[in-house]
Amino acid sequence: MARFKRILLKLSGESLAGEQKQGINIERLNDYARQIKEIAGMGVQIGIVIGGGNIFRGLSGAGKGFDRVKGDQMGMCATVINSLALSSALGAIGQKNRVLTAIRMEPIGEFYSKWKAIEAMENGEVVIMSGGTGSPYFTTDTGSSLRGIEIEADVMLKGTRVDGIYTADPEKDPTATKFHDITYSDVIAKGLKVMDITATAMCMQNNLPIYVFNMDILGNLKKVIDGEEIGTLVHN
Ligand code: UDP
Repeated sequence: MARFKRILLKLSGESLAGEQKQGINIERLNDYARQIKEIAGMGVQIGIVIGGGNIFRGLSGAGKGFDRVKGDQMGMCATVINSLALSSALGAIGQKNRVLTAIRMEPIGEFYSKWKAIEAMENGEVVIMSGGTGSPYFTTDTGSSLRGIEIEADVMLKGTRVDGIYTADPEKDPTATKFHDITYSDVIAKGLKVMDITATAMCMQNNLPIYVFNMDILGNLKKVIDGEEIGTLVHN
């Protein structure tokens, strides 16, 4: 028995790029699709939010002279591109799914609503909620907090390339140690780079636990669903 009925899975756009750092790495994409299909087969209802950092980020665009709002809109379009790629990969292995968009762009995807998302998940479809929040100056972390709360997910699973939250960046500081669990307020007080403050605060206020784990290792998503403690839990 899976320990969650409904999850919000957050995937970063950057991870989707794999070693190539930009664009979409097909092997990584197919690995994600296989892992998602595996847990869908266990009866877990799955909502997904994917970032767009492998294609465009509004803030870095602004640093190069792009208008911030247009740059953020480019970033939101990037999340739609990644969502379509994941939808295609899921479809190719026979996993029913649908893409919803935060901004109207039929026929690319249907316009998002909580009820459409829940109805599709209850019918066994994986629902990919693209376009972030639909507004500039937000991130897909905030988008996934928002969607996770709206769809009444039991948990937000944040798939990253690190196996949890550390006292410092483990890629830079070899003495960094991993937290088994931590409170939202400690994440904010210690300035840990898990999610931005807006996203963390939303989860804190609405009691949506976050589980951070390494999604780049095949089979890890199932381990989390099975209750193996391979990451870090953030809670109140
Ligand atoms: N974005 C936005 N509003 C949102 C979500 C995303 O404007 O609600 C834009 C923003 O420019 C961001 C980009 O989309 O930089 C890509 O999203 P994000 O950086 O969160 O992707 P990730 O880092 O997870 O790949």
